Amino acid sequence: MTHLTKNFARPEKAEEVVSFGSLDPSVQEVLTAAFQVRQRAYVPYSGFKVGAAFKAKTTGQIFTGCNVENAAFTPCSCAERTALTKAVSEGETQFSIGAVLAYEPDVFTTPCGVCRQFIREFANEDIPIYVAQAIDARIAAKEEPLQSDDPILCTSIFNLLPSSFHTYRK
Ligand SMILES: [Zn+2]
Repeated sequence: MTHLTKNFARPEKAEEVVSFGSLDPSVQEVLTAAFQVRQRAYVPYSGFKVGAAFKAKTTGQIFTGCNVENAAFTPCSCAERTALTKAVSEGETQFSIGAVLAYEPDVFTTPCGVCRQFIREFANEDIPIYVAQAIDARIAAKEEPLQSDDPILCTSIFNLLPSSFHTYRK
């Protein structure tokens, strides 16, 4: 070992999958906010809707965001960056938890590499990230968007982006 890695951000908790019903109501609230904002995703090209939400550490305010695509493709914004950009522009730079929802049938959709770095910028301490599958059919059926038995991936930005780039200069 070398002292050159001692300041690396390392997760204290490993990833796990739990049921939605076992989560604290404050976490359920953030996941539900991400589900709801996902309905506003602007995705005329991919049709792949993503919702994200981050809870501000000091005020507890929840900032939400959806993905926003563009005809020129490169200017697209992911849901996570939409949410965090909204929060930072409102004066919040510290977050207690985050949530991301999308839907693919057989896999959790986790933040892309760019968003992991974007989240890391605001993570002087680890930020737990909760990932769920969004099931659109429940909206039409007027069911609860997230249900007790739904599997939720509990991860964190330090799990998602180990040995990450960060400046330690003051
Ligand atoms: Zn992204």
